Amino acid sequence: MVCTTIKKGVDCFFMTNNGCQFNGGSCHTIVEQCIGCQKILDLPTGQYCQSFPDPAMRWRIGRCSMATHAKSTPSKVNGKLNPLKASKRRAG
Ligand code: SF4
Repeated sequence: MVCTTIKKGVDCFFMTNNGCQFNGGSCHTIVEQCIGCQKILDLPTGQYCQSFPDPAMRWRIGRCSMATHAKSTPSKVNGKLNPLKASKRRAG
């Protein structure tokens, strides 16, 4: 349903005839880690994410999976493999 609160005119899963059903009753603004992402909506009420109502939650356990500006870190660090994975590879 189309949002009638913060993201007016944007189709949103959380919007119902009874208003916004997202936790807290409205979207939350972007967080510092979001700066540079192409999914940011500049609205008169502030900067919000096109895809997620609570951007801070997307960054709580690591990189946001929909971020367009930040690349994921490779699993290999300094060219070394995870010793557990390496031993499994050798065994198999
Ligand atoms: S997609 Fe992720 S990084 Fe981009 S604005 Fe939304 S929450 Fe932030």
